[in-house]
Amino acid sequence: MTRIVYVNGRYLPYGQAAVHVEDRGFQFADSVYEVCEVKNGALIDEERHATRLQRSLKELGIPSPATSWTIGHIMRQCIVRNRVRNGVVYLQVTRGEAPRDFAFPSGDVAPTFVCLARSTNQSKTEALAAAGIAVKTLPELRWGRCDIKTVMLLPACLAKEAARAAGAREAWFVDAEGFVTEGASSNAWIVDAEGKLITRTLGRELLPGVTRATLLDLIGRDHLAVEERAFTVAEAHGAREAFTTSASATVMPVVKIDDMLIGDGKPGAFTMRLRSSFHQVAKVSGR
Ligand code: PMP
Repeated sequence: MTRIVYVNGRYLPYGQAAVHVEDRGFQFADSVYEVCEVKNGALIDEERHATRLQRSLKELGIPSPATSWTIGHIMRQCIVRNRVRNGVVYLQVTRGEAPRDFAFPSGDVAPTFVCLARSTNQSKTEALAAAGIAVKTLPELRWGRCDIKTVMLLPACLAKEAARAAGAREAWFVDAEGFVTEGASSNAWIVDAEGKLITRTLGRELLPGVTRATLLDLIGRDHLAVEERAFTVAEAHGAREAFTTSASATVMPVVKIDDMLIGDGKPGAFTMRLRSSFHQVAKVSGR
């Protein structure tokens, strides 16, 4: 449970934490965010998340609300104040409050900065990974800069809801040429018949996932065969194994894509090995 939330310089009780009605995050989704895993009370891959946050801010021309060191300090405070041992830290930075106008406000507008930490149910996540998840493919309907981690998440919400209604846990977006871009809140991976890992090359169509980058480090360390390229829905349906990556669920096996069982319909052995080795390479930063 979240008890304390950081909002613009203050740590407030959850029920009292609020931002202005004319905050540009609320009115225009003029806002970026990060989600970082917390494991044993420590942040995982903090530097990569900090780097991506600064990139997202720069791409939108939002000034950074603080240095990466201070942001790290605030994240740790949220972890400690909410007694999170295993869970996530969520932070969001908006362009700030200004009378509603599409164009950016002139003058110095302070960005809004919100941070909260929350425990996640570890046994639930592990049970999910042990069973594997189902995925539904859907036409890509997001915007042209999916590489920026903005809060413009309505298409992702609609896709997740459509997936849920179809009995799936995640949606995989498919571009006009029939290639999978990524998941609604994760990156998409398959393992082909030869045991080669395949995930889409970075570009404007997908988020450069921190978990994706760290998994590529693991793959490099262990000299595993990998190809960064787009794959089709047909390739995904016929894959030996499939999985998603995200900070909140690390490596999550996929056992069904649309109506097709992947492999024997159970989490793949290779995927589960990657899942269990992931934290050997992920960077841990203590309190
Ligand atoms: N793609 C999208 C669209 C996402 O929302 C996420 C999770 N935030 C990811 C990929 C995975 O990124 P990360 O590994 O940094 O959590």
